[in-house]
Amino acid sequence: MKVTEAELVISAVRQEQYPEGHLPEIALAGRSNVGKSSFINKMINRKALARTSSKPGKTQTLNFYKIENKLYFVDVPGYGFAKVSKKEREKWGRMIETYMTSRKQLKTVVLIVDVRHPPTNDDCLMYNFLKYYKIPCIVVATKADKIPKGKWASHLKTAKETLNLEKEDEIILFSSETGEGKDKVWASLMERIK
Ligand code: GDP
Repeated sequence: MKVTEAELVISAVRQEQYPEGHLPEIALAGRSNVGKSSFINKMINRKALARTSSKPGKTQTLNFYKIENKLYFVDVPGYGFAKVSKKEREKWGRMIETYMTSRKQLKTVVLIVDVRHPPTNDDCLMYNFLKYYKIPCIVVATKADKIPKGKWASHLKTAKETLNLEKEDEIILFSSETGEGKDKVWASLMERIK
């Protein structure tokens, strides 16, 4: 999809703050610093609409970006910051769980992992959470430009094995630097919001 219109509609914490209407939603999840904001910006052709590297300690919100009046990207705060307190982590967990398990408009979660390294324990927990609640998902393995092309297949294999990826779930190689995988991800998302 060629995106020309994209705007942040609301940063929500509570359910009553989620936007009204029936547009389908795609949520983006991943550990902090994995490249989630860069992924969003690349997908919507913006340099910096989604904030990059949101720091811990800031209010953790679900950011709803309306795209072309057609769908929302819902940016979920990153997980895996060692410095975040237990209380903050619990708050994060409740917010994500409420959103992901009850939001009718949610069509798919894009789980973003770093293709250079095997998925982390937190990545596996997130994937298992999605499977447990039967929430459709795709895995995007980003930062592909940081490893040689010849290693892509073996890194994807490691990611699949570490996550214990189910057959029905796609994993797509991506790079926010080169745009690798962008068309593939859009094609998959468009199928899912039909
Ligand atoms: P977030 O915390 O998950 O939103 O991560 P960011 O999007 O802020 O990215 C973290 C860092 O990784 C930044 O320095 C980005 O420039 C860099 N980065 C993100 N995606 C890519 C990518 O596909 N390729 C390369 N080379 N760097 C990336």
